[in-house]
Amino acid sequence: LDFCGKLPKVELHAHLGGSLSEKTVQGLLSGKPGIDQSAARVVIGKGHQRTMDECFEMFRILHEIVDSADMVKQATKDVINDFAMDGVQYLELRSTPRDNPKTGLNKRSYIESVLSGINEYEHDNVNNNRCIDVRYLPSLDRGQNIENAFETVKLAEEFKVSSSKVVGIDLSGNPYQGNIGEFLPPLNLARRAELKLSIHTAEVPGYLDDDWKLLQVLPERIGHGTYIIDRDKSHEMVLKNKIPLELCISSNIKTQTSPLDHRKHHITTWLESKHPCVVCTDDKGVFSTTLSYEYSLAASALGYKRSEMFKLSYDAIDHIFADENTKENLRKSFLEIKPGLL
Ligand code: 5GP
Repeated sequence: LDFCGKLPKVELHAHLGGSLSEKTVQGLLSGKPGIDQSAARVVIGKGHQRTMDECFEMFRILHEIVDSADMVKQATKDVINDFAMDGVQYLELRSTPRDNPKTGLNKRSYIESVLSGINEYEHDNVNNNRCIDVRYLPSLDRGQNIENAFETVKLAEEFKVSSSKVVGIDLSGNPYQGNIGEFLPPLNLARRAELKLSIHTAEVPGYLDDDWKLLQVLPERIGHGTYIIDRDKSHEMVLKNKIPLELCISSNIKTQTSPLDHRKHHITTWLESKHPCVVCTDDKGVFSTTLSYEYSLAASALGYKRSEMFKLSYDAIDHIFADENTKENLRKSFLEIKPGLL
């Protein structure tokens, strides 16, 4: 874990709401006398598991807590700081723009708040050891109605023009909900707007037709893809197109979608086929983890030496959604750190 802490890293699959630390939740709760003050309700401790539906109940509670533009901005800054302190040099944060008539929050002000949190954090830490490059993927929630998805994609397209921070779209939300066919038009709209796509798919058993439809969009990256290996047609298609997978070991174990023994996680099978894989946290707050800890789980599952772990982290740079220049700068920075590390 000590080595993984020092390893320079990129984080490509982190949902803002689920990434809030217990400390941040406690801080935000202190201004909300009406809500149950126990932050423990939104964190799954070591050795504990929940069903997917119970996790989505936690996300709902987190939405109740983070309900205004100021809170979204504060949450963004806190989460960025947590990742920077964990040795993350580049972060793609994803979050679903939401409306809350009670506080005046709407999808536009939500996106503005995330971007202003990112810009303020970067500005305040440009020359210190908390320096980190952050991008934003607005999320589409498959559990919500389709108008929300269209609105979010149109806003993302608009913000992409004014801010280099918006680089793509994420499709997430409760995998047991939603009519996936309806989400193909907004995803194709995002594609036409040159927004890159990261899509949660094959996260739970069943839903073969839905997952197959989503793969036809040819996303730049896949979130989880836990059950792809069991499905010959999808497995072949993902291997052939070399679509990178964002893999979140603790998340999958805690939501009971992969075996309790991390050495049986599907990362081992994909890497045996030399398929591009990126180690990620998903919801570091809810699943009480860090990216360094996820790398240490991966090292143990794969039996990798330090040099192989460095390569796993370094290769993740190939799959970020930012431009080639950003990739080159990251590669340079990682290689500068390498000699002192191995
Ligand atoms: P937010 O978008 O509010 O910043 O982050 C929480 C949201 O991210 C959840 O409501 C859900 O839509 C999405 N999310 C977080 N973790 C997962 C996950 O493991 N699977 C899926 N499908 N969606 C998730």
